[in-house]
Amino acid sequence: MSVPLFDTRTPLAPLRAEIDGAIKAAVDDGRFILGPNVAAFEEEFAAHCGAEHTIGVANGTDALTIALRAMGVGPGDDVVVPSFTFYASAEAIPPTGARPVFCDVDRETCCVTPDTVRAALTPRTKAVMVVHLFGNVAPVAAIEALGVPVLEDAAQAAGSMTDAGRPGALGTAATFSFFPSKNLGAFGDGGAITTRDAAVADRARMLRFHGSWDKVTYEHVGYNSRLDDLQAAILRVQLPHLDGWADGRRAAGEHYREAGLAELVALPRAVDGCRPAWHLYVVRSERAGELAAGLGERAIGHKAYYRTPVHRQPAMAEYGAGVDLPATDEVARTHLAIPMSPVLDAGQVGEVVGAVGEALGGRTGGARRRAAT
Ligand SMILES: *Cc1c(COP(=O)(O)O)cnc(C)c1O
Repeated sequence: MSVPLFDTRTPLAPLRAEIDGAIKAAVDDGRFILGPNVAAFEEEFAAHCGAEHTIGVANGTDALTIALRAMGVGPGDDVVVPSFTFYASAEAIPPTGARPVFCDVDRETCCVTPDTVRAALTPRTKAVMVVHLFGNVAPVAAIEALGVPVLEDAAQAAGSMTDAGRPGALGTAATFSFFPSKNLGAFGDGGAITTRDAAVADRARMLRFHGSWDKVTYEHVGYNSRLDDLQAAILRVQLPHLDGWADGRRAAGEHYREAGLAELVALPRAVDGCRPAWHLYVVRSERAGELAAGLGERAIGHKAYYRTPVHRQPAMAEYGAGVDLPATDEVARTHLAIPMSPVLDAGQVGEVVGAVGEALGGRTGGARRRAAT
């Protein structure tokens, strides 16, 4: 039986009538740009995260650029960013005028650590962009203790939790993406900035609307970057279910462990004090290529997301030249995402683990499954 890499449809099916109703109401209301659903979603999402302010924007990439500028990042500044992440994390930095300075990650958590960040600090470092990769949550307080403001790229971590609070409420500001396949997904593009800092929130609100408060005076060269009211209406229906979906993602991770996957490949490790809403379930193996081929033959969804790390991408040559990030190079080579979703059940996990065992010719998962049939 095939198992897809992710499943956004099944969790939304029971909400379909409510979503259709919300869309109809928004269309009837007709305030499509910065309308009532955006204002309501901003309040509800801030409450969910435990942040003071939320500013809806057009997507998660704009959210990063706008948040950096709202934090005062500009020409002449350096921003530390991991290289093992989606390209947009780093891509969002040069438009502010600042330079990305790439740092390494921890092999097991795939997140930055105080040590990897410290190694990349320069006299010009104005901020550190930590990426809560795959739903794991980087240790924000320990990184702030280095004396630098932290922007959280929480695009993959909606629904995750830590002992210190949720992503979105840990650093000076945080950004989210509501791209359809993210943990909280719109029916199109969408994004948000959260912050505890009223001045950062005010600047972000201006920047998303052409740098103006009042549509009369333009104080900054800003952006046209807003969350649509229709998308906000759809997100409002889903938000109350985000924590339940996160529980489902964690349960799927536990099923993988119980099914013996750790005997075959290296499993992701949660950062201390973090309960990740696994956005992607990413394992590591020196035989990732064979594993991908074997899963493909068995119709098991899989994907190597970041085989070429960002500092080695052509557009980043200016910033990535001479940068040496051994753990990043290792995980870029060895990682592979396997199926994960809020509704991935123990039976499907058994299929996946069996296929992993067969793909690697292993003794555990594959042998047990063959013995059982
Ligand atoms: C998806 C993602 C983004 C960009 O979000 P968009 O809404 O697609 O612009 C940024 N950073 C990370 C880590 C992401 O996963």
